Amino acid sequence: MSVAPKPTPRFVPRDPLTLHPETRLVHGGTTRSPFGETSEALFLTQGFVYDDAESCEARFKGEDPGFVYSRYSNPTTAMFEERMALLEGAEAARATASGMAAVNAALLCQLSAGDHVLAARALFGSCRWILEDFLPRFGVETTLIDGGDLEAWKAGVKPNTKIFFLESPTNPTLDLIDIAAVAEIAHAAGARLVVDNVFATPLLQHPFELGADVVVYSTTKHVDGQGRCLGGVILSSKQFVTDHLQTFLRQTGPSISPFNAWIMLKGLETLALRVERMQASAGKVADALAALPGVEKVIYPGRADHPQAELAKRQMKGGGTLVTFVVKDGKEGAFRFANALRLIRISNNLGDAKSLITHPATTTHQRFTPETRAEMGISDGLLRLSVGLEHADDLIADLAGAAEAL
Ligand SMILES: *Cc1c(COP(=O)(O)O)cnc(C)c1O
Repeated sequence: MSVAPKPTPRFVPRDPLTLHPETRLVHGGTTRSPFGETSEALFLTQGFVYDDAESCEARFKGEDPGFVYSRYSNPTTAMFEERMALLEGAEAARATASGMAAVNAALLCQLSAGDHVLAARALFGSCRWILEDFLPRFGVETTLIDGGDLEAWKAGVKPNTKIFFLESPTNPTLDLIDIAAVAEIAHAAGARLVVDNVFATPLLQHPFELGADVVVYSTTKHVDGQGRCLGGVILSSKQFVTDHLQTFLRQTGPSISPFNAWIMLKGLETLALRVERMQASAGKVADALAALPGVEKVIYPGRADHPQAELAKRQMKGGGTLVTFVVKDGKEGAFRFANALRLIRISNNLGDAKSLITHPATTTHQRFTPETRAEMGISDGLLRLSVGLEHADDLIADLAGAAEAL
């Protein structure tokens, strides 16, 4: 059966950014095929065919905006990118196969030998590997500092500093970095600020409003939120895409599978509901943990006893979906606690519908020396809990049961 090609009805509100995020998450970026499907179509195709050689030539010259090859762009992927851009209020978005592909591309696409990157020390393990081990192999200098110390950002600037890089809240100690203040220092130094916004989610923190130039996500986390696919996204100005990102992605190929982009697109529809519920439960869980015997410390940006509670109020809409806490008896206590949980599962992942607990010292941060871990505030009794969609009371009962094992 053939379908006469016609312009496809798109979601083009008068001013999409006047719509609430929840609405953008449901409709943003939707492009319908001539069938007029309700749910976004999944275009599993590598390439595209052309009516004649002339239109193929025009497509390649960029005179006709259609698709060429799914390593460059794909209709399903483009819907996901547009929805993310609308959500974030960014001019442009490009999706990648994983969060690490997004971080790597966001940095490499703009760096050359002789450049310098200044970054906060508390980073996701693989991001830290890129900065400490990988970039220096290609003549890029990197400096890691205490991201909470604004004087250290200022002091770390060199004449060749091109990028500032940070994540906030940090993994796993949930320290905050004052993004607006760091952006100001970066811009005064003529550098760009790249923010990894995974822990805060696009709903709870808006790095562009705080001055970031590029924002990256692992959409593996809250955006999918149901443990299925890896994915990533880079958000920036159109100029940044044209000048740096577009060619890098086309030629090096860290493209997301259209199938995974479709999963992410559908994940976005429920993102606001899920993050709201997870955050509400995280607040209750944090308070309950603080009252449990054997729990020595609770770190949650939404609690008044968080050392940066005031910054959290200024910079985030709530405390987030992760809670970190320290139990007594170090590693032995942490293992006893984790092993005694019945509902909450042991996993290094986060942002999932299922609540997941991690012991960073023996997993995500085990490659660091005990001294480095101590410097990062990661003690042997520290556990990171990603709060899921279960009823908060059931999670609290599970944690209380585990505390008895202490
Ligand atoms: C998970 C994560 C990444 C990497 O994402 P992948 O999708 O696993 O490649 C990067 N940064 C942060 C903060 C993360 O939590």
